[in-house]
Amino acid sequence: MAATLPILPTHVMGSHGFPGWFWTALDKIKTGEYGQTDARETFDDATQLAIRDQERAGIDVICDGEMRRFFFVQTFYGKMEGLEHLDPLRKTGLYAYDSVPRYRPTRRITVPKGLGTVEEFTYLLTQTDRPVKATCPGPVTLSIHIQTRPGDAYDNDRLALCWDLVPAVNAELKALVAAGATWIQVDEPSAAIVPGQAAEYIKMFNACVEGVEAKLGLHVCFGNLLSRPRGKRSYRWMFPALLEARCQQFVFEYANREMAEIEMWKEIGVDREVACGVVDVKSFYMETPEDVAERVALCLEHIPAERLSLVPDCGFFPVPRWVAFEKLKRLAAGAKLARRRLGG
Ligand SMILES: [Zn+2]
Repeated sequence: MAATLPILPTHVMGSHGFPGWFWTALDKIKTGEYGQTDARETFDDATQLAIRDQERAGIDVICDGEMRRFFFVQTFYGKMEGLEHLDPLRKTGLYAYDSVPRYRPTRRITVPKGLGTVEEFTYLLTQTDRPVKATCPGPVTLSIHIQTRPGDAYDNDRLALCWDLVPAVNAELKALVAAGATWIQVDEPSAAIVPGQAAEYIKMFNACVEGVEAKLGLHVCFGNLLSRPRGKRSYRWMFPALLEARCQQFVFEYANREMAEIEMWKEIGVDREVACGVVDVKSFYMETPEDVAERVALCLEHIPAERLSLVPDCGFFPVPRWVAFEKLKRLAAGAKLARRRLGG
């Protein structure tokens, strides 16, 4: 697949912006006004739209838009057994990290029927001839809305809870490969929330990808719930632990941080591919192709062109579809401009 890609290939992080009609349809599905067939058609239509938007924008490697997921990870809790629903901590005012539904373990958690990413990926394959990438959250991110307390199945031990999700993620990644995935990105934005545990998180990541025969990307960002970050917005503390990750590509956000720490690659040494966020998904400012090309030029000062690929900083779920589509077009145009300059 890689042989067919241009230099500085563009791809997406995973999720696409939901169109207005889809939100309306989701409300109808929630209240039981849609039948199974209506619902399936709705999700298929939304997914096709996300795929077409990426194709029409000129993105080189595409995803299904994660239109079947809700608020990034919420859908996955429905796939887990051994969880009890808890009320959100805050129900009034602006929606934020303290507004989300939470869960508590009633016993050790299992995921008997998989996380559902294989079904998403299989559908994607039926809808496009372009190179594709599958995405799956890692165990830290999957655990983020589960509260463990003294005396429950994990006795307040968050790491034990995360480790219990590792076999499920490993099985999911292997199932994705069996379904035809040759490039899988593991998303671990929540790994950036607790400084000091990077080494343990990487051990966990390596256990998740054990025996997974595909190109593996690792996305670490600082959170993107309704465009708000949550973590300490620096990659510096994660190194050198992150270099132990058995992945072929790091996928990091830079545009929203005004390309801060891009120079770190010169210190660290680029021993694998780096996908750099050169489009800010948290801002309505529409980058011009020139803006994107300037950011790419900065990346190229520290990362060899053959190891660099270009992405939006994170998923587009928190922005409307039109913003996502517009930014994708500008990402592709900026990449073209950067390639021309590189060629010249
Ligand atoms: Zn992200």
